[in-house]
Amino acid sequence: MPDPELSVIVPVLNESANIGPLLGRLVPVLSACAASFEVLFVDDGSTDDTLAVVRAVHEDDPRIRALALSRNFGKEVAIAAGLDHARGAAVVIIDADLQHPPEAIATFVARWREGYKNVYGQRVDRAGEHPVRRFLTEHFYRLFASVGDTELPEGAGDFRLLDAKAVAALRKMREHARFSKGLYAWIGFKSIGVPFEVAPRAHGATRFSFRKLTLFALDGLMSFTTLPLRVWTYIGLAVSLLGLALATFFLTRTLILGVDVPGYASLIVSITFFAGIQLLSFGVIGAYVGRIFDEVKRRPLYLVEEHIGVEPQGEDTLAPDSRADWP
Ligand code: UDP
Ligand code: MG
Repeated sequence: MPDPELSVIVPVLNESANIGPLLGRLVPVLSACAASFEVLFVDDGSTDDTLAVVRAVHEDDPRIRALALSRNFGKEVAIAAGLDHARGAAVVIIDADLQHPPEAIATFVARWREGYKNVYGQRVDRAGEHPVRRFLTEHFYRLFASVGDTELPEGAGDFRLLDAKAVAALRKMREHARFSKGLYAWIGFKSIGVPFEVAPRAHGATRFSFRKLTLFALDGLMSFTTLPLRVWTYIGLAVSLLGLALATFFLTRTLILGVDVPGYASLIVSITFFAGIQLLSFGVIGAYVGRIFDEVKRRPLYLVEEHIGVEPQGEDTLAPDSRADWP
């Protein structure tokens, strides 16, 4: 099988109703703008018939391929699995729910042919979103820009085209806490944004709850900055200086005015307050230690249960045959 010019990665979790409509719009666009292409669905542990639908499509059109992960690993890891297996000279990542207009891919490819290696879709407005989510997202980006060294382009997400060189760079990043938006920005390469409008979800509901998004945002911050760890040095310094000032004040006062016993309330308040601050700082350190633990275990990022028209790569080629070595 010769390598296609363009690979399209679609992470899917229970999207059986969206696969037909997506391919209906995607395939004509790809046929028009690429010499050859493959569509690589990464089934992220769906519990509906998503995989059966993809398998049926593959029977008719071998350019539609799939990788079934052994369970739900999350969208970020599903994309990593797709990047490991995509063989195109350029790779596009797109959501299955038609929120990302497939027609924009024609522009992505045009930019890529001009020499850009990291072409990202840039949403023009977030009008369809809940105002609270929009507000938080905006502030998250601002916070990220102010504390981290990596600048995230405004409104850029997973919908993008990556040149094979950029894909190779991303394949080297095997971290488990994956904040793809940050990784795409971190690798650099000649980048450009292509504006697009986010459509409402075609079928089904979003897979990201508010809680999941918040955890994801924290994860992203912690992967790209150690500021929460370093800040305790300054807080500690400030508190020590305050302690020193208080000591001087009370010492002088006692020398002048004599011993003054009352002060129970202020004692209790300061003990609880500073105990709280100390526990908080331990918590932050604990969060980073936990992440170190997760990474040093060096587990594979994902496990593939089934390859549909896809060659096994790297980590997934290890498994069954090694049994032959057993006594
Ligand atoms: N998705 C996935 N694994 C998950 C969650 C989501 O592969 O654990 C896929 C999902 O099927 C869809 C894409 O990621 O193709 C975006 O998900 P969704 O539309 O739920 O996210 P939102 O658009 O609300 O950010
Ligand atoms: Mg969506």
